[in-house]
Amino acid sequence: MRRSGFIAISGQPNVGKSTMLNGFLKEKLAIISERPETTRDNIRGILTDKECQIIFVDTPGIHKPHDLLGKLMLSRAQSSLMESDIVIFVTEKRLALNENDRNIIERLPRPEEDKKVILVINKVDKVKDKKLLLPIIEEAGKLYPFNEIIPICALDQSDIEKLLIIIKSYLPEGPLFYPEEQLTDKSEHFIIQELIREKTLVFTYEEVPHSVAVVVDNIERDEDKGGLNIQATIYVERTSQKSIIIGKKGEMIKRIGKEARSDIEKFLGEHIYLDLWVKVKKKWKKDPGALEELGYTD
Ligand code: GDP
Ligand code: MG
Repeated sequence: MRRSGFIAISGQPNVGKSTMLNGFLKEKLAIISERPETTRDNIRGILTDKECQIIFVDTPGIHKPHDLLGKLMLSRAQSSLMESDIVIFVTEKRLALNENDRNIIERLPRPEEDKKVILVINKVDKVKDKKLLLPIIEEAGKLYPFNEIIPICALDQSDIEKLLIIIKSYLPEGPLFYPEEQLTDKSEHFIIQELIREKTLVFTYEEVPHSVAVVVDNIERDEDKGGLNIQATIYVERTSQKSIIIGKKGEMIKRIGKEARSDIEKFLGEHIYLDLWVKVKKKWKKDPGALEELGYTD
């Protein structure tokens, strides 16, 4: 009998949850950026080998919601905690837990629910003297009966592999939930959208990144040139944001397109032509109809 189960990866924005997921799967599935609140949707990443199938769920960061989109993200994050067998709570190396960490610990499954909960302290490469981690380990252990407390650097693949061995040891016996070769529950469209959105986040500033949604409108095989023609639209909330995304003489949108194309080609393993459009959709983050149109449904 194989072992299998659902693992929720939860924690504050920017602590390295998507980096961990990509490390487990060795693929660029979850988008990564320096900015908090990058992940808007639960992404399931599926790892299948001879012994087990692990379904990782990368949850949007848990924080106080500011708008309808924020509320949707929080409810998704919480439902993935409820549905999982193992919860990995990720925090960054710090000298003490902060209020947000404590809030998340309060939302963790109660010990009597018999779920395994692992605390991962990430980014320890930033700590020269590892002894400095001891107080936070001790404090966390007093707040919650974690099954394990593990310091890692998610950028280091050998740390990821070690963590994987520990996770496997907690997996219950169970069936295959997905076909062996399936890597994610998300469509190609979704991943392509996220790869384009990531580039807009990396290259723009201030309020722009939070106002961006991307929709792939069409993917078509180009028989003459070979490869795929992909058309996508970048939605923003204001005209001023549209000008920023397009940039002087279209330089910004060219740069976004060039970088996104390179990632999408790696992901699909073939040549693509990327045609990007920018449109304004006012206050889409507060409008249920627009949220649904852009793929943010409950
Ligand atoms: P998420 O919001 O929790 O999904 O965080 P991300 O995975 O998007 O990571 C946020 C930022 O932290 C990115 O710039 C990552 O490259 C960086 N990061 C992630 N893990 C580590 C780590 O172990 N060490 C260091 N120094 N940076 C990391
Ligand atoms: Mg993330």
